[in-house]
Amino acid sequence: MKTRIVVLGAGFGGLELTTMCSEALGDDVEVTLIDKNDSFVFGYSKLDVMFGRTTLDAERLPYREITKPGVRFLRETITAIDPDKRIVSTDSGVHEADVLVVALGADYDFDATPGLLEGGNEFYSVAGAQRLSELLPTFSQGRAVVGVCGAPFKCPPAPSETALLLHDYLSTRGVRGDCEISFIIPLSTPVPPSPDTSRALEAAFAERDIRFVPGRRVSSLDPTRHVAVLDDGSKMPYDLFLGVPKHRAPDVVIESGMTEDGYVPVDSSTLETRFPGVYAVGDVTTAGVPKAGVFSEGAARVVAASLIAKARGGQQPAPYDGRGICYIEFGAGRVGRVEVDFLSGPKPTGSFGEPSDALAADKRHFGFSRSARWFGR
Ligand SMILES: Cc1cc2nc3c(=O)[nH]c(=O)nc-3n(C[C@H](O)[C@H](O)[C@H](O)COP(=O)(O)OP(=O)(O)OC[C@H]3O[C@@H](n4cnc5c(N)ncnc54)[C@H](O)[C@@H]3O)c2cc1C
Repeated sequence: MKTRIVVLGAGFGGLELTTMCSEALGDDVEVTLIDKNDSFVFGYSKLDVMFGRTTLDAERLPYREITKPGVRFLRETITAIDPDKRIVSTDSGVHEADVLVVALGADYDFDATPGLLEGGNEFYSVAGAQRLSELLPTFSQGRAVVGVCGAPFKCPPAPSETALLLHDYLSTRGVRGDCEISFIIPLSTPVPPSPDTSRALEAAFAERDIRFVPGRRVSSLDPTRHVAVLDDGSKMPYDLFLGVPKHRAPDVVIESGMTEDGYVPVDSSTLETRFPGVYAVGDVTTAGVPKAGVFSEGAARVVAASLIAKARGGQQPAPYDGRGICYIEFGAGRVGRVEVDFLSGPKPTGSFGEPSDALAADKRHFGFSRSARWFGR
């Protein structure tokens, strides 16, 4: 009997794990990869779509292009997970696993911020970014607010990038002088583990006359009066609100009983959950690292290496190190880089790479290399 590995979610974590298992074990194992969507879109592509730098169709990577030995992709919606028995129910059937990997990411809790959808625009979902690509060309004057509605949130630098790219977008259209930009974030600095990165971002905000409000969360919007209410009760009027919704684990994961404080606890060195044979990787977990694709991918690599070692009788991999590189759009086509290390020392550390054209090329390579590896492009 072949080992049945069932991977829930074909995002950064699920795609990397599936690819590594297929490369090393091929048809010797049976990997079932399940996702409700028909295609993958990189998180950062949402910003490109929103600001009209590309189209959604150009950014979609269809799962039907996955042809890997030992792997089958199923487009199904997961409706229940039984982690004790390692049985998964979907809208199309039931799947039994010898090894179950939960890589279902983080969902958005729109109800947690009253008025967000009626009075504002979220840009963290594919649909939200697409809607904004149609709305932004109609905004030519007034107060724009980029606001985060709760922490933790995916890709901590992404809201900072949004404020800077909005500046570029309005400047290119010749209307920046008629607009104000404010940026609200519930962190003390834009990228807390890297003071150099935070300093560079804060300097970029100041140079561009972007008002930066750290340490504050948007708690509600008044859609009639166009006012954002912050967690200290202060109010900020807006004509355009671009919001990052509060995050939470998908309902199906919460209902499975695997979560504590909203996410799945794991042993951060092995990504094992408290259920034997059940692993969890990426944004759905509390692994002690930020919610970002590079960390989901790194965690998935450790789980895959462990499964391969078990199948081949080799040595177990080194513990997950919580390291990752994130690229940061500074505008004008230049990209900076922060390299962070969350788990190897007593506290997280990070180093900053100055924005440059060379790093913009590195970021493009990052995307191309994943498209090639995961989708055979
Ligand atoms: C604007 C923006 C910019 C970003 N920029 C970066 C960046 O530059 N670098 C970076 O590393 N990260 C970036 N990120 C973050 C990154 O996209 C996520 O952290 C990453 O995708 C998480 O990977 P994951 O595998 O944990 O989950 P995901 O990639 O979210 O995958 C989870 C999958 O589970 C599926 N799923 C969920 N529920 C169900 C269900 N019930 N049934 C079936 N399938 C289901 C979903 O369809 C999804 O495909 C950005 C995010 C945003 C929003």
